[in-house]
Amino acid sequence: MNDRSGDDADDSPSVRHDGGSAADLKWHSLAEGEVLKGVDTRLDGLSADEAADRLRRTGPNRLPEAAPDGPLRRFLRQFRNVLIYVLLAAAVVTAALGHLVDTGVILAVVLVNAVIGFVQEGRAEQALSAIRDMLAPDARVLRGGRRATVPAEELVPGDIVFLDAGDKVPADLRLVAAKGLRVQEAVLTGESVPTDKDIDSVAADAPVGDRHSMAFSGTLVAAGTGRGVVVATGAATEIGRISGLLTSVETTTTPLLLQMEVFARRITGVILVLAAIILAFGYVVAEMGFAEIFIAVVGLSVAAIPEGLPAIMTVTLAIGVQAMARRNAIVRRLPAIEALGSVSVICTDKTGTLTRNEMTVTTVVTAGRRFAVTGVGYAPHGTIMFETQEVGPGTHSLLRDLALGAMLCNDAELAQTETGWNVQGDPMEGALIAFACKAGLVTGDVRRANPQTDAIPFDAQHRFMATLHHDQHNTAAIHVKGAPERILAMCADQQAEGDEAGPLDAEYWQRAASEIAAQGQRVLAIATRRGPEGARKLTFDDVEGRLTLLGLVGLIDPPREEAIAAVAECQAASIRVKMITGDHAGTALAIARQLGLKNTEEVLEGAQIDGLSTEQLREHATRIDVFARTSPEHKLRLVEALQASGLVVAMTGDGVNDAPSLKRADIGIAMGRTGTEAAKEAAEIVLADDNFATITAAIQAGRTVYDNLQKAIVFLLPVNGGEALALIAALLLGLTLPITPVQILWVNMVSSVVLAMALAFEGPEPGIMLRPPRPASEAILSRFVMWRVAFVSILFCAGIFGMFTWAQRQGASIEEARTIAVNTLVVMEIFYLFSVRFLNTTSLSFEALLGTRPVLIAIAVVTALQFLFTYAPFMEVFFDTRPLSLAQGLTVIAVGPALLVILEIEKRVLLHRTHNPCNPGQNSQSESDRKTS
Ligand code: ADP
Ligand code: MG
Repeated sequence: MNDRSGDDADDSPSVRHDGGSAADLKWHSLAEGEVLKGVDTRLDGLSADEAADRLRRTGPNRLPEAAPDGPLRRFLRQFRNVLIYVLLAAAVVTAALGHLVDTGVILAVVLVNAVIGFVQEGRAEQALSAIRDMLAPDARVLRGGRRATVPAEELVPGDIVFLDAGDKVPADLRLVAAKGLRVQEAVLTGESVPTDKDIDSVAADAPVGDRHSMAFSGTLVAAGTGRGVVVATGAATEIGRISGLLTSVETTTTPLLLQMEVFARRITGVILVLAAIILAFGYVVAEMGFAEIFIAVVGLSVAAIPEGLPAIMTVTLAIGVQAMARRNAIVRRLPAIEALGSVSVICTDKTGTLTRNEMTVTTVVTAGRRFAVTGVGYAPHGTIMFETQEVGPGTHSLLRDLALGAMLCNDAELAQTETGWNVQGDPMEGALIAFACKAGLVTGDVRRANPQTDAIPFDAQHRFMATLHHDQHNTAAIHVKGAPERILAMCADQQAEGDEAGPLDAEYWQRAASEIAAQGQRVLAIATRRGPEGARKLTFDDVEGRLTLLGLVGLIDPPREEAIAAVAECQAASIRVKMITGDHAGTALAIARQLGLKNTEEVLEGAQIDGLSTEQLREHATRIDVFARTSPEHKLRLVEALQASGLVVAMTGDGVNDAPSLKRADIGIAMGRTGTEAAKEAAEIVLADDNFATITAAIQAGRTVYDNLQKAIVFLLPVNGGEALALIAALLLGLTLPITPVQILWVNMVSSVVLAMALAFEGPEPGIMLRPPRPASEAILSRFVMWRVAFVSILFCAGIFGMFTWAQRQGASIEEARTIAVNTLVVMEIFYLFSVRFLNTTSLSFEALLGTRPVLIAIAVVTALQFLFTYAPFMEVFFDTRPLSLAQGLTVIAVGPALLVILEIEKRVLLHRTHNPCNPGQNSQSESDRKTS
């Protein structure tokens, strides 16, 4: 077991206890104040049974959520809508006028619509809450003497919890150990500067902000490590008492939805005013009957208000979120989906995201010697070669010392499972253990003989890790590993072959490090130091400038195959990929070449970034693709510089210090596996598999969702437009209405909604990743959308009027002609659906005409409904329909292909003009980009 966790119970300098059997000790004496009264725990953690038992009594460690609205409330919510009010008013008026059939139809349609809305909303909510569950945090606890990771929901009072930088405190804890622990408590106190934590008791009545010995649920660990006993969980925590309910439910709307809601509301307003004018005009001036004109005006309102649109858009978003989750991209904030389609540059980590994070030591350099290490993966089998000779264990004392450092300055463990050798902990450290074993060391023996007393954990800021060990004679030794430049600066001398220390040959080491890095290997330096006698704590002073360098280690970490493909895909989509890493410049460049990044000639190092002015950085940041030896602060500057150049930036991160740049980026992307809670909280998207290819998949999904939203708009609005045009024309010209208001109700609230639903399930269009990013400023109601809506509205209006007039000329009754007009409209909708499915390419291909399952289901449903509408006798009662003859029916159906052909001609003309009607003006550039990449 890991030393640092295994000895928690007995030697922690910060736990004070007062006798009693160690195993059953109570912590009461620890706190003089109220804090721990009644908390019953064990030094080696609760047993699994005890924890389960307590969990039954205390309930899950979860803030009670606001009880979701019951089904009835949710159903009633569907009626909260201006159009519904209009319809209900119409129902009252028609009833008062004695048109009871109309009243019935209006009410029935309102009801059907509410049911559809209810089902849709339920679906959307389900999708989103499933996503929330995927992000439930874990906690590291001591259970039965072993470190374990459990869902934070299962914590119980008495559990001993470990805290590390970047963690979200999972429950209220009384701290029993703290090392440099600083906690950001803004959620509780509003104070954004992290508070220092220690273990000394405070007055029982101290305010929350002054309780330094407590770590409160929901706060974030900004730095350091600590350990505490759970004293309160769930609603009993401070945050639970303050907020009572879980309020952090993320927004469920997006700028686009808001834009559409505002749009729908505006149209509604305009239509209602227009309706009132027509009502007054018809009644007073034209002296029409009130009932007649009133019904016509209600029909106009129903015709023109795009009532179903917001609901369809919500469902489209929810389905998009689900699709992304299936591809391992978990969306934390809905607006991110829209922004994804605009991303023009991705700044990504290297290790683990672009590379596999499966490391193997292959090179070792000591003073004057260079070794090659064989073997694959983490299996501790392989040999170490010097020139062409195999090196026996113990023949090179220097190699052995270096291996000892590699094994001790290390938190990982190797374990053999059925699938082979696996690492628990950092893969790089796992590789070091495997190497040390190949050098002849035995993990258990070495670690038992040299227990770890203290440590300075690795941090991207200082780029090294140091550990302090005492052997059985109580002799102290410090082992350090880290980035070569950093370690070199900390060394006073180097160890030569034969146990002698000699002067440090910095030039030799730098050259060796560059050589290893140039092969794409990650380089680590390992150094050591005797003493300091007596000390049981490790400080920066103990290591700075006093170490003896042992040598360098080179580790391979090959790029992921799928990342290479994803980088190419991004470049085809005019998205620039930039690598930001803490690694050596040489390593970063070599990997960048293997991945096929654009600019692999230049690299900018963190220290150089510090020397650049904002203007200079802006210029460098756009040109250069590889940034090495950076720390989290540099990421923030880089994001800002890129944004200042007008780019939409996606940025990955995992550490606590990455939070500011993740927040600042247009799309912050946190690592789901290796990322801290702090990074996840700051991010818009969490990658469940830490894989760069998933980012590309998310971008594709984001573009698809945006397309589908646009398709829903382009599909629904012309239906409203066509109907409204037809009604207004009839009213103004004093013609018979070609479609009655209740028939319009039927089309809009039944047929259109069913057909539009299919669009929410549309997959990506071919070539979606060959388009350049959508300009962030583009309105969804772009010129193209406006044009399409207007054009198709006119076609629909013409179709309705044309067929209505044709039927009457053929001697059909008004009722028959209206039935024909309604069916024509629905047939046009069905064929228009095929056109809309491909906004950017032709719909006249075999695959396109074949449709997808959702499309076919929607068409089947609508067709069945239309047959019912046309031929069922009871429909005649409600909608005044008449059965059509076969000839009439076929003529109606023939309108569809005609419409499709007209639309395809229009599409071809538009496509020819701008290539991509969604992004006019961007294409010539993307074409040339594609050729050079
Ligand atoms: P990356 O951007 O590739 O994740 P890191 O910031 O994790 O880079 O690491 C930067 C450098 O710090 C590495 O090249 C290595 O030299 C050193 N390093 C990384 N992890 C450790 C560790 N656990 N202990 C000591 N040094 C480390
Ligand atoms: Mg790293």
